[in-house]
Amino acid sequence: MRAVSTGAQQVADLLRASESAVVLTGAGISVPSGIPDFRSPGTGLWENVDPMEVAHIDAWRRDPDRFWSFYGERFASLVDKRPNDAHLAVAELERRGFVRAVVTQNIDRLHRLAGSERLIEVHGSIDQSVCMECGGKVPIDRVVTLLADGDGAPLCEACATPLKPDVVLFGELLPERALAEAQALAMDADLMICVGSSLEVYPVAGLPAITRGGGGRLVLVTQGPTPYDGDADVKLDGDVVTELRAVLAGL
Ligand code: ZN
Repeated sequence: MRAVSTGAQQVADLLRASESAVVLTGAGISVPSGIPDFRSPGTGLWENVDPMEVAHIDAWRRDPDRFWSFYGERFASLVDKRPNDAHLAVAELERRGFVRAVVTQNIDRLHRLAGSERLIEVHGSIDQSVCMECGGKVPIDRVVTLLADGDGAPLCEACATPLKPDVVLFGELLPERALAEAQALAMDADLMICVGSSLEVYPVAGLPAITRGGGGRLVLVTQGPTPYDGDADVKLDGDVVTELRAVLAGL
């Protein structure tokens, strides 16, 4: 077996020394599961549309049928995706007591499927859709059936109002409680490991600065530059699966 790289070993050592580590993840951790990051050009579903326009709260308000004709495809493309070894590694770190919680920008619920327990989904999740009228919640499997059976937006079965995916659309604020929990974790963390995020989208991009400000360590596991490259104690810029496997091997 190949020896663990120096960087991965450093991360493993930081984890062993830490008491309140938090993992923060972005789109890059789900790329090996076949979910392209829409910020990379030429990626499938997002190729011919402007996500800021079609996945905007105003698009949903204006014309839910049209909104769902796009978003329904997104649901269909995500519903059968499976966690990859990077998600599993993060779940294992929590199970073994090295990590206190996972904060994710992803809506794909793959951390949940991988077994992460304390999971803060700051952009919501496709796991359910909500009725803004009566507060009803509909699980994803039912939404997919409604989409396949109907024409246009899936409707609340109690009051026939078009459903909204329980994700943060462009133009919407992040859920206050999730964000407050993420900020409290960041403040308390003596180590934050950011995986697969370019750390460009606020307010989540501000979390590493909160940890840093409190004297915590910072690790980046991501390909491509981030605003924190100069600040990080360790940066691993290989493939997320390979890097996280190596970290586990170093523990
Ligand atoms: Zn309803």
